[in-house]
Amino acid sequence: MFRREIGALIDERGFIWDIIVGDSTNLLYPDQKIWGMSKFAQKIILAHTHPPYISNMSGEDRSTLLAWSYALPNRVEMQIICKVNNRIVVRRNRFVIEPLESWIKRGKKRERKIKLKTQQCFRIWKKPWVDRLVELSYL
Ligand SMILES: [Zn+2]
Repeated sequence: MFRREIGALIDERGFIWDIIVGDSTNLLYPDQKIWGMSKFAQKIILAHTHPPYISNMSGEDRSTLLAWSYALPNRVEMQIICKVNNRIVVRRNRFVIEPLESWIKRGKKRERKIKLKTQQCFRIWKKPWVDRLVELSYL
């Protein structure tokens, strides 16, 4: 039985900066840790587990990812890890935001363009933290 969302802050080398324990429906990333990490890491991966079959980001996930994508110069990615038919699926999400310069160049017309890039990965895409986070969610 899925008991709780478990999250991790991971950098581009796969180094784990923090583990976050949530409840069955939610999880809060520690702002201070992310700010600290942003000074050293090139890429910030906000990984966390979801209950089975829910591989999409929640509304809160989206706003968290969007806020950090705006706030940091680093590449920020959110990975949702969940079981689908007893297979582990990882959905990788990131927002591509129009650079400030090009927005200014086109006269700041409307808002900066934002595009969500998402990719679903199965077993072939294997990272060491994936199985462990799932395991902890079911304990
Ligand atoms: Zn989530």
